[in-house]
Amino acid sequence: MAPAAEAFDELVTANRILAREGVLDAFGHASIRHPDRPDRFYLSRARAPECIEAADLMEFTLDGAAIDPAGRKPYAERFIHGAVYEARPEVHAVVHSHSPSVIPFGVTGTMLRPVMHMCASMGTRVPIWDVRTNFGDTNLLVTDMKMARDLAAALGAGSAALMRGHGCVVAGRSLRETVFNAVYLELNADLQMKASALGDVTFLSDGEVAAVLRTRSSFTFERAWEFWCRRAGRPYDVRPMEGPLAEKA
Ligand SMILES: [Zn+2]
Repeated sequence: MAPAAEAFDELVTANRILAREGVLDAFGHASIRHPDRPDRFYLSRARAPECIEAADLMEFTLDGAAIDPAGRKPYAERFIHGAVYEARPEVHAVVHSHSPSVIPFGVTGTMLRPVMHMCASMGTRVPIWDVRTNFGDTNLLVTDMKMARDLAAALGAGSAALMRGHGCVVAGRSLRETVFNAVYLELNADLQMKASALGDVTFLSDGEVAAVLRTRSSFTFERAWEFWCRRAGRPYDVRPMEGPLAEKA
């Protein structure tokens, strides 16, 4: 398969997985940075992720301009992706979702913190971005670069930021890692709410999070990706392993 076709196929699979796993519903989106042009990214036309096909994928500059729209309507919030790629050269995939279990944390100010080793990639401090702070009363959507850059600044060097009354943004070094982070962010939020109802919660420490991430190889992402591909009815494309434990996996 040609590199672009392979990247498109992977992005279609990511959308189907995120829909199947309850991170995306009819709304939200996943993108990848262009493999050969770091100043561009790929994102679907405005369509529910479960329904996306390769022909829906469009190329954008980092400021959200479509290269060849061909009559396709882009997502209003495509700027989120461009601003994160602009601010973070190492990021190669971005997910914006309305991941349901994270919403309560964005509106209460209760910090979303890691309760389980699989969720360590979120870090111990997930920032909350409130659009109202700098933009007043809006419809909550991120519809231009000024808003998107403000959100990207709140994300900082992290892998996730919550968006008050709206959802979250998740970033990673690869599409498989980013999907992994988005699925486990949703799971952590659900588990944290359940644990909090039972009593005081012992969260992972900074040192534990660092240890999990230090010893994690791409095998972790591959194992999850194969499982999620099966559940989403998509073929699994094996990737060579990378990372500290690749030889032991
Ligand atoms: Zn949104």
